[in-house]
Amino acid sequence: MKKPVYMDYAATTPVDPAVAEQMIRHLTPDGVFGNPASRSHAYGWQAEAAVENARKQVAELIHADPREIVWTSGATESDNLAIKGAVAGRTTAHIVTSVIEHKAVVDTCKWLEGQGVEVTWLTPHGNGRITADQVAEALQDNTALVSLMLVNNELGCVTDIAAIGALLRERGILFHVDAAQAAGKMAVDVTRMPVDLLSLSAHKVYGPKGIGALYVRRSPEVRIEAQIHGGGHERGMRSGTLPTHQIVGMGAAFALAQDRLADDEAMLEGLRARFIDGLAQLDGVSLNGSEEARVPGIVNLSFAGVEAESLMLGLRDLAVSSGSACASATIEPSFVLRGIGLDDEQAHRALRFSFGRYSTREEVDFAVAQIIEVVGRLRAVR
Ligand SMILES: *Cc1c(COP(=O)(O)O)cnc(C)c1O
Repeated sequence: MKKPVYMDYAATTPVDPAVAEQMIRHLTPDGVFGNPASRSHAYGWQAEAAVENARKQVAELIHADPREIVWTSGATESDNLAIKGAVAGRTTAHIVTSVIEHKAVVDTCKWLEGQGVEVTWLTPHGNGRITADQVAEALQDNTALVSLMLVNNELGCVTDIAAIGALLRERGILFHVDAAQAAGKMAVDVTRMPVDLLSLSAHKVYGPKGIGALYVRRSPEVRIEAQIHGGGHERGMRSGTLPTHQIVGMGAAFALAQDRLADDEAMLEGLRARFIDGLAQLDGVSLNGSEEARVPGIVNLSFAGVEAESLMLGLRDLAVSSGSACASATIEPSFVLRGIGLDDEQAHRALRFSFGRYSTREEVDFAVAQIIEVVGRLRAVR
């Protein structure tokens, strides 16, 4: 069977072959397999050098100091560490976040709410954006942390981190930003972005799954409480033997992303325009999210009069996502689409197409033709 065309790069990306090759060299007896924490022999020293080189590569992509990078198992853990670690037992604290955050932030804040922490849930404007004014209005005397994502994983829209961060810096409130969908897709520069904590993941950027990092600012110094104890790795912030091959993979992927950033971006802008132009032949197609402040690789579209679930069934030659979570018998519409003001019916008509490094013009043309055919067929039988 021919595999469907992959159009779900926002869910995960394949590992770049050059990255996989690096990883393999850090596993086997003839490779660098030592424990990076082993201080008494060359096996450990070599592994440590590989880890520190990768730390530099990850730091470079976001213009951070390597000492500001803490390895985690992925952006989910980074989000947990940042938010729980910043609040750390202060049940009188207040957090500001939004209803369109990734589940790793939403569920962490909900859990903290259960522990007595007060949480304000901001609702973005219809284009998926949250303004500095909205954040300013939500702040209280006991606000300890604001957590907002840089790029939304369902809509691709970009948050105005500079304006929001400036406001928070002025008041000494910590700012956590989930940048899992942003790193390697747009310029991320912590020397210019007033953020304190920033979550990263390797597998959205052509690195392996199961590895990520949390950027923790050194100046002004940010203190967070560890959530995983045992051994005091990562300057006490996250214990556990470092997975050298995973870390090397993330470093190599981030170095590659930096080299290719401009090319990847230009290529994806081209594919996006081709996709949207191609679909202009079809009536009743609307874009969800912002047309201006967005990354090129994510296109979320609603098709009037067509259920996304039926459309996906018809588009079996395309691997796409509806953003809907199937909970047992009922199909719940995306909470992100509900969060930007779509009603249930509108939310049920949306599909997310996401493109990446290995997407081609032929694939986009194929997708356009398939969508036009299937939407036409579904509308005809209504
Ligand atoms: C994928 C993703 C995560 C989770 O990252 P993992 O490394 O899979 O844990 C968190 N936030 C956003 C915005 C994401 O896209």
